[in-house]
Amino acid sequence: MEFRLCAIASGSSGNCTFIQAGMRKILVDIGISGKKVTEGLQLIDIDPETIEGIFITHEHIDHIRGVGIFSRKYDTPIYATQKTWEKMLNEKMLGAVKEANIKILEKETYLQLEEFQIFPYGIYHDAVDPVGYIFEYQGKKITLATDIGVVDERIKTYLKGSNGILLEFNHDVNMLEAGSYPFYLKKRILSDVGHLNNEMAAQTLSEIYHAEMQWVVLGHLSKDNNVPDLAYLTAKQALEERNIRVGEDIIVSVAKRDTVSPIYKV
Ligand SMILES: [Zn+2]
Ligand SMILES: [Zn+2]
Repeated sequence: MEFRLCAIASGSSGNCTFIQAGMRKILVDIGISGKKVTEGLQLIDIDPETIEGIFITHEHIDHIRGVGIFSRKYDTPIYATQKTWEKMLNEKMLGAVKEANIKILEKETYLQLEEFQIFPYGIYHDAVDPVGYIFEYQGKKITLATDIGVVDERIKTYLKGSNGILLEFNHDVNMLEAGSYPFYLKKRILSDVGHLNNEMAAQTLSEIYHAEMQWVVLGHLSKDNNVPDLAYLTAKQALEERNIRVGEDIIVSVAKRDTVSPIYKV
């Protein structure tokens, strides 16, 4: 049975990832409009009615913009941690949510959908209770790691053993520093609760690579402070320094902001 990922949208302007494990289909975040996500799913031949849950990483708008509307339209359960729910409900970030569709996620604990296992792990980012996700199915592992200020040993441990990974390559530090963002915003992005830069992400990737890692999708690129080729080259260079051959030992691709990605299988 298939275990696969598709980035419906990825970048600072909106994120939405589709994951399928056998018959089970879910979305991680909907930071794009309800219309866009429906169109994206149609492109990969997925009926939105069959989505079993929307798993939230954190409450920033580029991750939840379309969550409420999608859930209301297709009666889809929404999974988030207790603290994230409190924030989203108190500030009415999702609009009306059906009581039955409010599902509380326990961090660092496996949620089992039969054979499909979902593990939300805590990350460092300036949201109330942000998480990344590990997905496991039939002995394979796909990991989602975006909106991460810093990667420490704990996070590296979670990423290790992935057969496929969607990893944040948010910005190039030089582009960010030389760019036009106001000082406070530069400081926020560069902080330990901001976003992962190309160098740090590439370093992490080369450290967690193992022979069973089939692909990495570079995601959550900044529109203003990164370019896909630069992110790609930084990843390639770090891998090649460790004699890992891009295209042979691992497939490296960059998720496009407004285009639905190919489907990546493990
Ligand atoms: Zn965020
Ligand atoms: Zn984000």
